[in-house]
Amino acid sequence: MAALLEVQNITTQYRLKDGFLNPCDQVSFTVEKGEGMGLVGESACGKSSMALSLMKLLPDNGRIINGQVLLDGRDISRFSEEEMKKVRWKEMALIFQGAMNALNPVRTVGDQIVEAIRIHEKIPEQQAWKRAKMLLESVEIDGKRVRQYPHEFSGGMRQRVMIAMGIACNPKIVIGDEPTTGLDVMVKSQILQLLERLRREKEMGMILITHDLSVVVEICEKVAVMYAGKIMEYGPTDIVFEHPAHPYTRALINAFPNIYGDRQLTASIPGSPPNLLNPPAGCRFHPRCSCARPVCSQEKPELLPVGGGHYSACPLVVR
Ligand code: SF4
Ligand code: MG
Repeated sequence: MAALLEVQNITTQYRLKDGFLNPCDQVSFTVEKGEGMGLVGESACGKSSMALSLMKLLPDNGRIINGQVLLDGRDISRFSEEEMKKVRWKEMALIFQGAMNALNPVRTVGDQIVEAIRIHEKIPEQQAWKRAKMLLESVEIDGKRVRQYPHEFSGGMRQRVMIAMGIACNPKIVIGDEPTTGLDVMVKSQILQLLERLRREKEMGMILITHDLSVVVEICEKVAVMYAGKIMEYGPTDIVFEHPAHPYTRALINAFPNIYGDRQLTASIPGSPPNLLNPPAGCRFHPRCSCARPVCSQEKPELLPVGGGHYSACPLVVR
């Protein structure tokens, strides 16, 4: 059976003053129905650009220059804006970092959820209000609060309202781009549990973008580790984190000594990610890699299977 979402060799390009930059370079992965995939990596490694590429919401200077995004077998990367309007929110939804601040302060949360529903579905207003109440309840907010304004809710609750809006049209797949960043630890864990429950109940696919490995361990079956626009390692979460095959994943895990508990990032990886306007030749991680050899600055490693659905883009290290 074909995967719900099959991303094949996606390359995205931004046109900048000083040249072209590819925030995502030949990225491939799949997400099955009901499956959760974590997309992890340091900031500016291309995770958010990947989300925007999938949704076709790249800024004006950005575009997909290569590859396919198959959603239920249809290549949506070729879809027109008109066609994408039918896909966004109805089939694929994006919940982004700080989304709670995107609520309109002068309209009730109910008004905003109802509007989100009725843009996509021609249903009577009364029915949409009923659904809005149910949606609030599904994100554990009392449905009676549907006529309240955003300022009457806490930050965590507003983020839950945004999740309710994200799932309002029953999408097949939800992308959460750092959906809990900026929230305190308790609220964060409630939101993650909520996303996890909704995913299971509705059998939604989910892509969770985060730099917090412990979140991925908690709720994703699968993980893709991204560095400088490329997937470095990919596979079942437990295998990747317990037997990482790629030096970058190992460094990330070392910077996060207790991925099964404490969420604190305690050490950082020496050096910094490259400027993507002029990425290093060969393996993009080579200037920071403690295992690097001369060949690493010459040959571009490919993401290759290492067994058990596990892939690594480092040919020099075996697990
Ligand atoms: Fe390190 Fe070389 Fe492997 Fe890249 S290919 S991760 S530089 S050992
Ligand atoms: Mg980001």
